[in-house]
Amino acid sequence: MAVDTATDAQRDILHGMQRHGIALTVENYAVWSAYHGGADARLRRVIDIMLGNGRPPDDRAMHDLYARYCAPVTETVQFRDIAQRTLGTLHLVSALLGDMQGAAEGYGARLRSASEDLDAQADPLRPLVARLAADTHDMITHSELLMGRLTASAQRIDELELFLSEARREASTDPLTGLANRRAFDIALRQAAGEAMNSALPLGVLIADVDRFKAVNDRWGHDIGDEVLRQVSASMIETVRGRDMVARLGGEEFAVVLPDTGLAGAAAVAEHVRAAVAACRVTAGASSTMVPVTISIGVTCYDAGERLSDLVARADAALYRAKQAGRNRIVLAGEGS
Ligand code: GH3
Ligand code: MG
Ligand code: MG
Repeated sequence: MAVDTATDAQRDILHGMQRHGIALTVENYAVWSAYHGGADARLRRVIDIMLGNGRPPDDRAMHDLYARYCAPVTETVQFRDIAQRTLGTLHLVSALLGDMQGAAEGYGARLRSASEDLDAQADPLRPLVARLAADTHDMITHSELLMGRLTASAQRIDELELFLSEARREASTDPLTGLANRRAFDIALRQAAGEAMNSALPLGVLIADVDRFKAVNDRWGHDIGDEVLRQVSASMIETVRGRDMVARLGGEEFAVVLPDTGLAGAAAVAEHVRAAVAACRVTAGASSTMVPVTISIGVTCYDAGERLSDLVARADAALYRAKQAGRNRIVLAGEGS
């Protein structure tokens, strides 16, 4: 049963950590569960060598291993999966324990009443039955204690889950604009490409870059530059539909993933986005001078089975041509190249 497997695996991981003197932290647990799972042969080899040399990883080594081998997003997903299954097991065990406690209480009450009956008859069996009743009472007390511990563990796992979902959100969000970051974009694009191949539906991709952004920073300062980035993000988000994904790839570069959208559709979205950004009103300085905000966009579509880096490079090349052609415009990949 899956639940049993999860508990066994978790116990093995915890025992392994304990045996090698590894502190129980979320990071260390992520490393050890990845090592235990064996999916990454390099991580497995590195830890096996350390253990083989009789030098289990210390705190610092564990920290390095985590940074090197445990991509936070994937690890978080794996850990949450284990946490959820463990929580399920704990609830199951609590329910069983509750049933058992109920049955034991009934049994204890019957023993006590039997003991009283025997007492009245001065039966020689009375001390034995009284002893059984006392043992049953002890067992109930013990199982109440266990129940308390189980509840505490379940609460701890709930807290960990919350912490991990927050960490996961942070790991995929750009703090300045609140958009998805490059990591989240890479994941979303990979997933969208897989879905496009399965469904044989088209997939559009836009890469956008703010025009002459360095001049904005140079003339009005970094804070106004940041405000421009926030406004551009807001316009882009408002312009696209629900399933479309907008990401900030870094600096003043953005991307949009457009599932179920061919080249003509992607070009139409790009033109809307361009116009929405050009309509942004950002002012700066005491005289509220208008800051010019425009973007250039490269537009392309996924060619089923191609490398995603090729897809992005093609959109980048189209973006470059949009810059060459004078900026504040969109260029379709393949167009005039
Ligand atoms: P082009 O039209 O050819 O794209 O010119 P550009 O000036 O926009 O391009 P360039 O790559 O020369 O300059 C990008 C600038 O973006 C330089 C960098 O200082 C600025 N930048 C990158 N990230 C941030 C950020 O988070 N905030 C602010 N304010 N500026 C940033
Ligand atoms: Mg730029
Ligand atoms: Mg740029």
